[in-house]
Amino acid sequence: MFRKLPSDLTPTEDSPGLRVKGSTRHTRSQGDYVCGGCGAEDHANGDNDVTALVQDYTDNHGPAHRRGGRA
Ligand SMILES: [Zn+2]
Repeated sequence: MFRKLPSDLTPTEDSPGLRVKGSTRHTRSQGDYVCGGCGAEDHANGDNDVTALVQDYTDNHGPAHRRGGRA
């Protein structure tokens, strides 16, 4: 059984995290996350939506779970 190559940056349940691709002349920026803390996932396209997605992830997911979970 082979793992996907690391060049595939799409987050999955096996590899949670935040991925952002900047826009180019021909494409809009894209963002995806899979939260390793609660399993939530979201996707966004366009600078405004991607910025909001990154904010949401930063505030509510990923590192935020560890910040609040000092048990
Ligand atoms: Zn979460």
